[in-house]
Amino acid sequence: MGLRVGVFGAGGRMGSTVCRAVAADPALELVAAVDPHHAGLDLRQVTGVDAEWQVAADGQSFIDERAEVVVDFTHLDAARANLLFLASAGIHAVAGTTGFTDDDYDRFRSAFSRSNCVIAPNFAIGAVLMMHFAQLAAPYFETAEIVELHHDQKIDAPSGTAMLTAEKMAASSPRWADDPTRHTVVEGARGGAGPAGIHVHSLRLRGLVAHQEVILGTTGQTLSIRHDSYDRDSFMPGVVLATKAVADRPGVTLGLDALLDL
Ligand code: NAP
Repeated sequence: MGLRVGVFGAGGRMGSTVCRAVAADPALELVAAVDPHHAGLDLRQVTGVDAEWQVAADGQSFIDERAEVVVDFTHLDAARANLLFLASAGIHAVAGTTGFTDDDYDRFRSAFSRSNCVIAPNFAIGAVLMMHFAQLAAPYFETAEIVELHHDQKIDAPSGTAMLTAEKMAASSPRWADDPTRHTVVEGARGGAGPAGIHVHSLRLRGLVAHQEVILGTTGQTLSIRHDSYDRDSFMPGVVLATKAVADRPGVTLGLDALLDL
């Protein structure tokens, strides 16, 4: 018998991929899947996982099925409530939903006392390395901008990955050159100013999955660090790693890098 795993958002693009990844891993057992608008439908129909049970309407099914870890890929407001529910139920949480604020993290830190939580805005190893390399490079450049590119169904901007990248770069290099722009013809042309004033640009295009380029500039040279997720399967090794590790990580762990010894 493997680790008993549940999934919040099982009918979504990421949640259904997580269901298949959990079902395919011999060390894990998919025991419950929750998605209100898909409740009552066969798991097979919703996710493609070969199972005889149905998607449930709410988290009570995780308690009923004795889930040890629950993975959440939903929407911001739902995820806030879902994580607090898991904390109160003493179930470990792995969250990939993006958009949490520092206040959310504080709330989760107080809530997760009986169980643990790993939250990562990007579970792709290449993206984690991209952020790490950008943080390493930051002190050697005076200017930097982040361009994040996502599919045309993404409802939040900028991406959690872009914000975390900017935070990491600002932490290793708090001072950046002033923006010279004095006149903007189209509002938003310079993107948004993130941590330490680092500009972030969000592109939304049909056909994309999740992509990001960090461009750093200094006299006579630029350095571009780019990562592309072409398929949602790119996130699954990271999700599975966090699912297996969360029980040994007391409290709230932010970012997959903590689990990779970077
Ligand atoms: P999606 O396709 O819209 O899936 C979200 C699913 O959650 C939908 O089926 C939605 O149902 C369902 N849902 C809403 N409220 C729920 C609740 N209270 N309980 C259970 N399920 C609920 O979105 P997605 O593309 O999979 O993305 C989900 C999140 O993951 C986003 O925040 C995205 O930015 C993030 N993401 C993170 C990573 C990472 O590596 N960390 C990678 C990709 C995406 P309805 O549509 O019927 O409301």
